[in-house]
Amino acid sequence: MSTDPDIFITLVVPVYNEQENIEHLVQVCLEVLKAHQWTHEIILVDDGSKDKSRAIIKSLSASHAQVKGLVFSRNFGHQAALHAGMVASKGVYVVTMDGDMQHPPSLIPTLVGQAEKGFQVVNTRRLEQESLPWSKKMTSRWYYRLLNFLSDVHIEPASADFRLMHRQVVDAYLSLPERHRFNRGLVAWLGFTQTFVDFQPAERYAGTTKFSFLRMLGLGLDGVTSFSVKPLRLAFYLGSAVSVLALAYSLYAVVIFLLGKAIAGWTSLLVSMLFLGGVTLMCLGVIGEYVARIYDEVRGRPIYIVQETITQNQDGN
Ligand code: UDP
Ligand code: MG
Repeated sequence: MSTDPDIFITLVVPVYNEQENIEHLVQVCLEVLKAHQWTHEIILVDDGSKDKSRAIIKSLSASHAQVKGLVFSRNFGHQAALHAGMVASKGVYVVTMDGDMQHPPSLIPTLVGQAEKGFQVVNTRRLEQESLPWSKKMTSRWYYRLLNFLSDVHIEPASADFRLMHRQVVDAYLSLPERHRFNRGLVAWLGFTQTFVDFQPAERYAGTTKFSFLRMLGLGLDGVTSFSVKPLRLAFYLGSAVSVLALAYSLYAVVIFLLGKAIAGWTSLLVSMLFLGGVTLMCLGVIGEYVARIYDEVRGRPIYIVQETITQNQDGN
């Protein structure tokens, strides 16, 4: 990966239908970066937006040489957009952040301060938002508990995709070949010297969240399957335990038969059939999840497709 020694910091911002937010975000970020006199670039990754996001990125780039854009050919998802932004980044430090102002740009100097102290990765952790619905708080808490129970790397609860990485870490990250990218886990897996900074997430500046329950569930499954084979092992344990029970019950059935006391056992038959059927399907489902992921990885399709690169001089770099 090429670093431009003239660029101190790159901001990578994925945007998906964020037309009301982009200008404000870029303006606030530029104020922060200029106040510290850091050489910089801001890479806005348009993840297949259907609103005016692309036009706004173009006009911003036309008036600010440091603002660049990547436009995906369709929606590839937040994690893919972060990846593309990192590929294009040239700064010594790379900061990834959301485009809706929930990740406050005013925190960037704190992140840089930690990096200058020698931390190669400065992660952030969301302090609990009072305004979040109880259900979302609970889901998030239990998700991380389950994830950490299943996963082989520790993933900090409430961690956000708002982080600073040193160039060396970005290059290591980009060398990971997998297509299903669960950044929080991948960055934790990379190692290096890491630290956490807590922040109070702001409300969205405008617009609404792009993450439906199903997308959250998908991301959650990626988190588990990318970092652990424990669900497969649990399926094996469960299958074994049920087999032992089934064997004991069969012995009992044979004894009853030999004693000539066998009666029409409709209930027990039905219950055991349903139970065994359920366990079998569940284990097949777990295996299926992994097989699907293997299939996806083996096909080796790219993580995203860039349709257009936006820079002031339009030289395509
Ligand atoms: N985003 C994206 N692609 C998507 C969904 C979201 O690039 O498919 C971007 C979005 O524009 C925002 C960031 O990812 O900058 C986080 O999304 P959002 O704010 O909707 O998530 P939340 O903060 O509600 O978890
Ligand atoms: Mg948000």
